[in-house]
Amino acid sequence: MSDYYIGCHLSIAKGFEAAAKEAISVGANTFQFFTRNPRGGAAKELDSLDLERYHLLAKEHHFGPVLAHAPYTMNLCSDKEDVRKFALSVLREDYERVKNIEDARYLFHPGSHVGIGTEQGINHIIEALNTVLIGPEGPWVLLEGMTGKGSEIGSTFEELKQIITGVRFSQRLGVCIDSCHLHSAGYDIVNQLDQVFTTIDETVGLHKVQGVHINDNMNQLSSHKDRHAKLGEGSIGVHAIVKMIQHPALLGRPFNLETPNELEGYQSEIHLLRSRLR
Ligand code: FE
Ligand code: FE
Ligand code: ZN
Repeated sequence: MSDYYIGCHLSIAKGFEAAAKEAISVGANTFQFFTRNPRGGAAKELDSLDLERYHLLAKEHHFGPVLAHAPYTMNLCSDKEDVRKFALSVLREDYERVKNIEDARYLFHPGSHVGIGTEQGINHIIEALNTVLIGPEGPWVLLEGMTGKGSEIGSTFEELKQIITGVRFSQRLGVCIDSCHLHSAGYDIVNQLDQVFTTIDETVGLHKVQGVHINDNMNQLSSHKDRHAKLGEGSIGVHAIVKMIQHPALLGRPFNLETPNELEGYQSEIHLLRSRLR
């Protein structure tokens, strides 16, 4: 097994042990899951026996960190107060839950400001994070970099940095980069990978990148559209993705596929990557 942590998005509907078994069956040594239905709704109670079995299995198979993805409906910077309140309760609940899962990192989309403007949107996100991150320790919380469609916040590293700078306990606040989102946002990871990494380092800092999504892009550079393609079937291509995974600055990070695939498709993409990464 290589040193890379490669996995894919999986369901935890049947529990964590079942998800880990599924991950192992496709050659993964990390995975990502939704903390609850992606459209929102209540989260399932954690089953402590299932978690115990999962932790043993993950250790035995040398899993890397796993990513707990927040539901898309969680919009901390909405123009509507009730939407923000709901988002804050999801953030708080999810983060408490993630603390029970060994080596899990919580990840969310900064959200869409829907018209109140980037500055005010960012202030709302900062305010929410300041009520939940109340000390320097705990699982990583990651802001996912977005494509910048509509009024989305977080499609530039300057905006992500602005959020991090505003948070009092930002020691465990980082970012998750998504190859499709980066590319659609205008970061040319195909032709200018080193330059993109320099930009990241000069803004948020590469040490803050603690999660990576690997997707090809159905659209073009700077399209600000968010449609993932299977590896090799989009405008990024396998070569650029492999180079990104191999970048020394990302050593030890979990890389998860969110490509339009069923389990079998994930399996062949993971095998493809592992064969190219050797
Ligand atoms: Fe996401
Ligand atoms: Fe993503
Ligand atoms: Zn996406």
